[in-house]
Amino acid sequence: MKKYDFIIAGGGMAGLSMAYYLSQSSLRDRSILILDREPKNSNDRTWCFWERPAQGSGQAASPGRTPTKPNPFEAILFRCWNVVSFHGTTYAGPIEMGDYQYKMLRGIDFYTFVQDELAKHPSIERKQATINRIKDTPKGGFVIADDEPYIADFVFDSTFSLKLDQPENHNLLQHFKGWIIKTEQACFDPKRPEIMDFRVEQHDDCRFLYILPFDEKTALVEFTLFNDKLIADNEYEAELRHYIDQYIPTGTYEIVETEYGVIPMSDETTSENPSEHIIRIGTSGGYTKASTGYTFLRTQRYLQRIVQNLIETGKPQRPTSWFDRRFKLYDSIFLNVLEKHRHPADDIFTRVYTKNPGRVFTFLDEETSFVDELKLFATMPFMPFLNAFFSVIRRKLVG
Ligand SMILES: Cc1cc2nc3c(=O)[nH]c(=O)nc-3n(C[C@H](O)[C@H](O)[C@H](O)COP(=O)(O)OP(=O)(O)OC[C@H]3O[C@@H](n4cnc5c(N)ncnc54)[C@H](O)[C@@H]3O)c2cc1C
Repeated sequence: MKKYDFIIAGGGMAGLSMAYYLSQSSLRDRSILILDREPKNSNDRTWCFWERPAQGSGQAASPGRTPTKPNPFEAILFRCWNVVSFHGTTYAGPIEMGDYQYKMLRGIDFYTFVQDELAKHPSIERKQATINRIKDTPKGGFVIADDEPYIADFVFDSTFSLKLDQPENHNLLQHFKGWIIKTEQACFDPKRPEIMDFRVEQHDDCRFLYILPFDEKTALVEFTLFNDKLIADNEYEAELRHYIDQYIPTGTYEIVETEYGVIPMSDETTSENPSEHIIRIGTSGGYTKASTGYTFLRTQRYLQRIVQNLIETGKPQRPTSWFDRRFKLYDSIFLNVLEKHRHPADDIFTRVYTKNPGRVFTFLDEETSFVDELKLFATMPFMPFLNAFFSVIRRKLVG
């Protein structure tokens, strides 16, 4: 049996990103096998994320901020916006983004771009196969896919499913259904996406719509919930229809594509490195930010660090400091507030976005100073968050 240097189990967003970063590094000639049961040739999702302008983009970063490294997928972004709108309980209008931009990348453009790049590297193989088993052995990470055995020094696994069943943790779901609609009337502002619109019955949950405009007559309109149970398909559709009829002067409209997804919002501790030769990445590795569901950019950052570590030490472990881990505590507190319905979510988000212009994006990126974090906390309702803090500590201690 041929032994690979790296097997990438699951060639979705994280798996392909991992292969991409390896292919762009001094490890590019190492033998790499990517296994996925799907060909990854459809537009099965879109990723949105905020980011500062890349170095060399012609746009200066704010004074005092370190310019970021160019995003390798900048050239294939589908849209990039400088302003976003928000519709909360006491405010509707643009949100101050500082020097961030809100970016949208279509799945199909990402898959095509990365697969074309990987095809230039003879040391990288891709196989379409269903993985049945991943196991650590003294000789390396062992994978069985379509009854064929494979072995490698390291297996990067993005196929593992989180259990979401540990009572000491908060296990909410972010679930959503969206339509790309083409309208008769020009009714969207292509320069301004609506990142959250809370004009929807909350049912004691967190429920909102968002709109990503492609042009004046085309947009993705998505209905999103943060709670602990999925709803029937026709319920998402009824909300979408109701919102569009009430708030968007479309004239007639046609649904040209649909998107559905479920993202874990959980503080369950994933073992990123369950054993010596197996490393979980992407959603499987716990890369999803528990309080927002955002995963794309975090995955890029984490994987770049893993590849750097492989180059420098021969080991993939991603270093995290004790101080950085405070953000996990903040996420747990926020999830506790939502799970226990301690305060209306629409008011929390209104405070977050309107009282923390600019700062909120840095905070969600986990790049704020502790002083800025205290300033943000001061804008939150005090007692609900204090109670949530003690509840989280109690859960962790008592289990
Ligand atoms: C519809 C949707 C929209 C999203 N939008 C955003 C967003 O806007 N911003 C953001 O930051 N995050 C978003 N996310 C969350 C997250 O970024 C994505 O889920 C992302 O694709 C996670 O990457 P991943 O590699 O962990 O998982 P995936 O991209 O799902 O990749 C896992 C791969 O493993 C393969 N696989 C699984 N099991 C097996 C098996 N047994 N055998 C073989 N192959 C297998 C799958 O076919 C898949 O290709 C979204 C998620 C969804 C579902």
